[in-house]
Amino acid sequence: MTDAQALVKTLDFQLDTQSGNEGLLYDATLEARSVYNETIRLAKKGVDWDAIPDRVADDANLVKNTTQRVVAKALGAMENYYEYDDFGQPSHTKDGVYPLRANFTEGYNLSLTDDGDVAFRISAKPYKHVKGVLKGSEPHLDILKTALENDEWKIGTAEALFHNDNPELHVNLTNTEQTVRDKHDSRTAVGVDVNEDNVALTALSEGGVEDTLVIDFPEIKFERHRYFTMRKRAQNAGKDSIHDTLEGREKRLVRDRLHKVSRHIVEWSRQFEKPCIVFEDLKEMRDSIDYGTRMNRRLHHLPFRALQFYTSYKASFEGIPTAWIDPAYTSQRCPMCGHTERANRHKKRFKCKSCEHQDHSDRGASVNIAVKGVKKLDWNVPALNSLPVVRKVRRQASGVVDAPTVTHPTARGYQADGRMGVSD
Ligand SMILES: [Zn+2]
Repeated sequence: MTDAQALVKTLDFQLDTQSGNEGLLYDATLEARSVYNETIRLAKKGVDWDAIPDRVADDANLVKNTTQRVVAKALGAMENYYEYDDFGQPSHTKDGVYPLRANFTEGYNLSLTDDGDVAFRISAKPYKHVKGVLKGSEPHLDILKTALENDEWKIGTAEALFHNDNPELHVNLTNTEQTVRDKHDSRTAVGVDVNEDNVALTALSEGGVEDTLVIDFPEIKFERHRYFTMRKRAQNAGKDSIHDTLEGREKRLVRDRLHKVSRHIVEWSRQFEKPCIVFEDLKEMRDSIDYGTRMNRRLHHLPFRALQFYTSYKASFEGIPTAWIDPAYTSQRCPMCGHTERANRHKKRFKCKSCEHQDHSDRGASVNIAVKGVKKLDWNVPALNSLPVVRKVRRQASGVVDAPTVTHPTARGYQADGRMGVSD
């Protein structure tokens, strides 16, 4: 593995170190700076670059693998920097700390604890480890936990460093084979409408709607409500530890389910020609006008962003790009005639006040999202004369099962269909 492999994502964490350990890490980052400077010094002296790692490693008070990573980075800087001193030599040595760069399982290691945390162990000095647990944003922690549990994710090098005097670990997740296609080189826009108890998908090409699917996950909603009640009960009884245990359990359960749903979305999208997965941009949603109760419910009752994040992340591992659109009116606009008003929608039922078009309302929203995606990708929006029947699948802990009869009329009537060939 070299540093030149396709970098997919860097996840940033704070290091919650055990007492006394932080100073050890600080010393090591100072040592990394001297390794860096020594590498530059030797290279400027004309020492053969191949000989530099061993020469530096002999004197460095770091584990060998980490020394090698820092030397490699310094030599890379030599090649790429264009800053020269008065003698025409590269001059970019500095004082202070320098990130401690390490390979996964060599210079640092990560593991899941029984409490659902991620424990780290960084070999700061030979035979001296800095240990503790990672703190950070929930999506980043979740992705890292998935990577630790799953072979399809590759954890690469990490850098331990001090940011505003606080120790951090920046972990690279890498994929050696796949790169993400440019989204403008897409032929199918897959609109994803995320709701509290389902996601609706519509694949739109220049020829029209290719297919559509609604993945129901009532279990997630049900479990979240169940845990909410249990946690409240524990809290009222003053049993904070039980409350925290329940909270951790709920998070793991929901995370696990959302990962499966996101995998399903990516699997479904893969069948189309050059897909680009299109999401509503939550940031624009919050900054923009009032979207009403439906939007508020979606924002507060579902780890909405987490599902988008997991899906875009998994898609990138398949080389599939994602695009983000302004969510304004996606649930109120008629995909057939363009007429837009709030009264078009009644819960899961859409009925256009202008052209009488009827549909499963979330599917209709996913069509609108796909249409906005197509506009964003600069294709011509195809004329939508008819929409395919809504196919539904239900996702439960046991996997995908056939959905019950669809209770929402579509343009063509009722249909229950579509067991997907996706395994967990
Ligand atoms: Zn209409």
